[in-house]
Parts: sequence; structure tokens; C-alpha cells
Amino acid sequence: MRADVQQVADGAYLVHGNNTNWVILTEGDAATLVDTGYPGDRQQLLASLAEVGSSPEAVEAVLITHAHSDHLGSAEYLRSAYGMPVYLHEAEVPHARREFLHQVSVGTVLKNGWRPGVLPWAVHAIRSGGTAHVPVACPQPFPVAGPLDLPGRPMPVPTPGHTDGHAAYHLPDRGIVISGDALVTGHPTARAKGPQLLPDMFHHEQTRAVASLEVFEGLEGDLLLPGHGPVHRGPVREAALQARERARSKVE
Ligand SMILES: [Zn+2]
Ligand SMILES: [Zn+2]
Repeated sequence: MRADVQQVADGAYLVHGNNTNWVILTEGDAATLVDTGYPGDRQQLLASLAEVGSSPEAVEAVLITHAHSDHLGSAEYLRSAYGMPVYLHEAEVPHARREFLHQVSVGTVLKNGWRPGVLPWAVHAIRSGGTAHVPVACPQPFPVAGPLDLPGRPMPVPTPGHTDGHAAYHLPDRGIVISGDALVTGHPTARAKGPQLLPDMFHHEQTRAVASLEVFEGLEGDLLLPGHGPVHRGPVREAALQARERARSKVE
């Protein structure tokens, strides 16, 4: 199986799984994996590591933006099979253990079923394991404050709202921002293309999700790697402004 791997910079790859993205950062022989796709994306996830000349054994840690099943899908598999740590923001750790689940419910999706793209997306999400129970047995909070001592030296950036403990990852040296679901560039259930927030039903707290866009406005970078949608090239600050503008015009 081949994976849809796009090299976006030296040692940085954006991979498009089935309706969700993950990122591979490499430095020499070592790698950091950011997010792991849906449970059903596992073969593609492993294929993507092989395609960039890496392997699960070379992954020093798995970083998770947030514990939704389209990002957490293979985290426990990788942890238990290869022993690498799975790190998230401390507020997201209990979510990854599934002490609670802040994810759009099937009922809410059905209520929104009249919206363009929602039902086909839902069928696809369920087929990809979107409703599967995928807890991580021992997820860990970031071991240090500031940049992590991992390939790419990613710096976690708390961006709550989509979930309580959502974190983006900033690589200031490479001008890269991995934004997860706090700032995306497209989704099968959204008509708009380009930088935007996901449709409202996907956020745990919509108002905080809008507020977190200000955090992105403060990040230096010109390469945005979102959890959904294509890579966006151009100042991340402007991408965040554009998303905020869109969110505002939707409210008015
Ligand atoms: Zn999400
Ligand atoms: Zn997502």
C-alpha cells in the first residue's frame, strides 16, 4: 500500500490519510510522528514511514494534537508494539485515556445530515474506525516546558477549544506550524477552501476555538500543516486572520 506523502520542507512530511492528516518529522535516522490517523489508516501510516525512509522503530515519540479518533487511531498500537511514548497536552491526557469523550456524537452528525457532505463523510468516518474505542493505556504529558528534545524540536502550543487540551506544534527554525484541528484548510463537510475553523459541530467549545486563532496569529511561520485539508503556504498569521474573518462573517 502506498501512502499520500508530501514532502513540504527538509525533514518534514505531510501525509494525507482517509480524510485526516499526520506529519512525519525526520532528523538523521530519527523521527517524530505527529498524529496517527483513523484506526483504519494503520497500513497507510506504516507505509508512510517506510516511504520517507523511516520505520516505527525510528520514531522517538508520538505527539498527538488532540485525542479524537481520527488523530489517535494508531497511538496505542504504536505504543504497545514499539514502546515509544505518546505525548499530549496534560489537559488532553485523560481524554486520550477515554475517561471522557469530547467528540461529535452520531446523533449530532445525523441532526446535521441535511448539510452538504455530512452524510458521505459520516459513512466514511465510521468505516475508517471513527467510532471505534481507541484509548491509550498510558498517555503522557509533555516531559518539559518549551521545545521538546525530539526530531524537529517541536514546541507545543496550547490551542484549546476544539478540545480542552488541543495542542499545535511550532517549529520556529523551519517556519512550520502543525495546527491539528484548531486551524484547518478544508474538510469534506465544509464548502470553503483555505484557512478556516472546522464546522461548529466538531468543536467542544466554539468560542474558545475562535479565541485560539489569536494564538496562531502570534506564531512565526509560513508553512501550515493542518489536521484536515492541504498544506497552506504563506504567513501563518494571515491564515489565522483569514479563519477568524470567516468565523466572524458566519456569526453575523
Ligand atoms: Zn478533532
Ligand atoms: Zn480531525
